[in-house]
Amino acid sequence: MSQATESKELTRNENGMLKGKKGIIFGVANDHSLAWACAKALYSEGAELAFTYQAEALERRIKPLAESVGSKFVEMCDLGKDEDIASTFEKLGKHWNKIDFVVHAVAFANKKDLEGHFVDTSREGFALALDVSAYTLVAVTRAALPMMNDGGSVVTLTYYGAEKVVQNYNVMGVAKAALEASVRYLAADLGEKNIRVNSISAGPVRTLAAMGIAGFRDMLKFVEQRAPLKRNVQAEEVGKTALYLTSDLASGVTGECIHVDCGYSIIAL
Ligand code: NAP
Repeated sequence: MSQATESKELTRNENGMLKGKKGIIFGVANDHSLAWACAKALYSEGAELAFTYQAEALERRIKPLAESVGSKFVEMCDLGKDEDIASTFEKLGKHWNKIDFVVHAVAFANKKDLEGHFVDTSREGFALALDVSAYTLVAVTRAALPMMNDGGSVVTLTYYGAEKVVQNYNVMGVAKAALEASVRYLAADLGEKNIRVNSISAGPVRTLAAMGIAGFRDMLKFVEQRAPLKRNVQAEEVGKTALYLTSDLASGVTGECIHVDCGYSIIAL
């Protein structure tokens, strides 16, 4: 879907569930990104959004998307760098006096670690995947705390490969397991500030990051046959769950992992 078509279709209820709520979204690479599906869902219910992108080359793609949801805050931020995280929140603090939510939809592993055998993962490849895909949630949440002075919601994206072995997912499965455990520890730490931390375990969706996993197309076909709903999940369905988690509807939910996978994860045999 082109960006122009996208922007025409965007609707917004100014008095929606997220009226007056503000937040930052990490991980929009293009209009297929799960982060973008989350952005559209939150925008549709009245939220105000800030965005970051990892590398300068992406600015051209992110800016029009951000503009289509009325965002005036778009900053470059490599989450692998503490100084980028610090400067992003410093700038955000000048833009807004508080935020209500953070969406973390970021992951990375070397392509060669997403095929073959997990046992061959190098020390460097392991550290990189865990750093970008799991530690960044901790770093971003900590940096967001001073601005989350009225409670809030942190949402991250995970995958079933954290729980069970998925061929070729390898080190990313281990990183997602660390991410899901981090969600629980962060939820326990931050509950007294009324900050909720949850993850969405999305079924496979065709995105840039997903296409880096060897055999991803076969995964889509397999899920379509086996999932109770007999189809793959759509990015919009992930976005709607992010909306639920950031809204007051989920006021009693923290430390959870919600599967949005057409039921695939409940099937054994
Ligand atoms: P995507 O569109 O490629 O998004 C991944 C994002 O992570 C990109 O914006 C990427 O930026 C960013 N990123 C990587 N390294 C970064 C860094 N050091 N600093 C800042 N940003 C960085 O793919 P996606 O599928 O939507 O992925 C979003 C999240 O959903 C990931 O956590 C992924 O594991 C999770 N997820 C995806 C699926 C699926 O099937 N698609 C299923 C379950 C969970 P660059 O493009 O610049 O690298």
